[in-house]
Amino acid sequence: MSREKIIVIDFGGQYNQLVARRVRECNVYCEIYSYKTELEKIREINPKGIILTGGPNSCYEEGAAACDCSLFEMGIPVLGLCYGAQLMMHVLGGHVCKAPVREYGRIEVAVDSSSPLFGNVEENTICWMSHNDYIEQAAPGFEIIAHTSDCPVAAVQWKERQLYGIQFHPEVLHTIEGTKMLSNFVYQVCGCAGDWKMDAFVENTINSIRKTVGNGKVLCALSGGVDSSVAAVMLSKAVGDQLTCVFVDHGLLRKNEGDEVEEVFGPNGPYDLHFIRVNAQERFYRKLKGIEEPEQKRKIIGEEFIRVFEEEAKKIGAVDFLVQGTIYPDVVESGLGGESAVIKSHHNVGGLPDFVDFKEILEPLRDLFKDEVRRAGLELGIPHKLVYRQPFPGPGLGIRIVGEVTAEKVRMVQEADAIYREEIARAGLDKSIGQYFAALTNMRSVGVMGDERTYDYAVALRAVSTVDFMTAEVAQIPWEVLGRVANRIVNEVQNVSRVLYDVTGKPPATIEFE
Ligand code: GLN
Repeated sequence: MSREKIIVIDFGGQYNQLVARRVRECNVYCEIYSYKTELEKIREINPKGIILTGGPNSCYEEGAAACDCSLFEMGIPVLGLCYGAQLMMHVLGGHVCKAPVREYGRIEVAVDSSSPLFGNVEENTICWMSHNDYIEQAAPGFEIIAHTSDCPVAAVQWKERQLYGIQFHPEVLHTIEGTKMLSNFVYQVCGCAGDWKMDAFVENTINSIRKTVGNGKVLCALSGGVDSSVAAVMLSKAVGDQLTCVFVDHGLLRKNEGDEVEEVFGPNGPYDLHFIRVNAQERFYRKLKGIEEPEQKRKIIGEEFIRVFEEEAKKIGAVDFLVQGTIYPDVVESGLGGESAVIKSHHNVGGLPDFVDFKEILEPLRDLFKDEVRRAGLELGIPHKLVYRQPFPGPGLGIRIVGEVTAEKVRMVQEADAIYREEIARAGLDKSIGQYFAALTNMRSVGVMGDERTYDYAVALRAVSTVDFMTAEVAQIPWEVLGRVANRIVNEVQNVSRVLYDVTGKPPATIEFE
């Protein structure tokens, strides 16, 4: 589909996905590419503008992530952010070196509001800085359009050539007018029209699915989570009767979840689709026996999923297409998008076995961020309650049980998690906390119950607030709620004698445990 596009060139910074999301929030489609992408390829993509991200390197050091100076001569507007700005200056003949004073956090920046980049921005505005290096001297041809008390060159422009650089990070919300600046770039500088709208996306995707599928039969891997539910409803709108949804109960679901999914998508639910529930608990537990390493567990679960689907597909006969609810952060986190390291291989993407017995895999949500998936879901008429469900990873409790998975451990974590969710809801906190769940550590410790020594497991509670699941802060649950949860867990869940609360954000931790 040829829609207007801004591309983000990734130099390994932390906030790169945020840059893309912010641009999309301005109704302009945006994708992330590695800094190693060939210029030829970029020309082919023909973006309306290019944004260079921040990054951990110092651009003047040997081996630092670099770019060709022809990037700035293609006639396409470029905006460099932090490292991207430093690199632009370095490549075009300015001078970048270690800053005498490094800036970190909220800093007041004085901007020249006559620049197109800063149109409608206050002359003194709070921005988020995070740098050790600085631009000591702008490259020839550039004018300085912002400074702080410690940073003489906080933004530069070469208006005629449509080149811009800013030292701070407009993509993080701490930069109060950051979204306005990005919007100025895409509209005032790049001249975008803003055609990235969810209703259009949904309609176009449905049409293109119809074209791809033709008269073929489609099988949708339904987990009951938001992503695959939205994918399933989309497919059902596109190809109706040709779709069968297969829901694999792998025995790693939350308590009662299998039945809840069946209620929504099964024969008594609001959707008219072929629904098959496969109870494959034993089979997954067998495969996972003795396996402790998280990546290996993910791969096994991912592979087994596909095998079950293949078997179901054979029963149906002549199924050409498999649908998965892969979303954009899965693609990027699996190391297939930008420059970021592989954090986890999502079972939808990196965990796919080499051989998959379907003609084609359809991933209609592959381009979307989580909040966009939700908007698409609402657009499709899926009830609010389902669209805003607690996120649940594909490998399920398999990665909320640290170490080996057994049926017994699944029982412990299911019960603990159900108690936790119940109490959070009872305290009226379920809408305000982004994500919360219980995990089972592989730590056993000594306790005392009824005067007898016990040697039982420790459950870890986690709760974070997050908008985009790329970064997260620990949610501050009141002590009395935590106390009640802990009390009930040790009393009601057999073989658990200790409850811990995780107070780590992301980064450095991830939201899930493995
Ligand atoms: N590594 C560069 C510096 O320290 C850029 C940092 C960044 O992009 N956030 O200045």
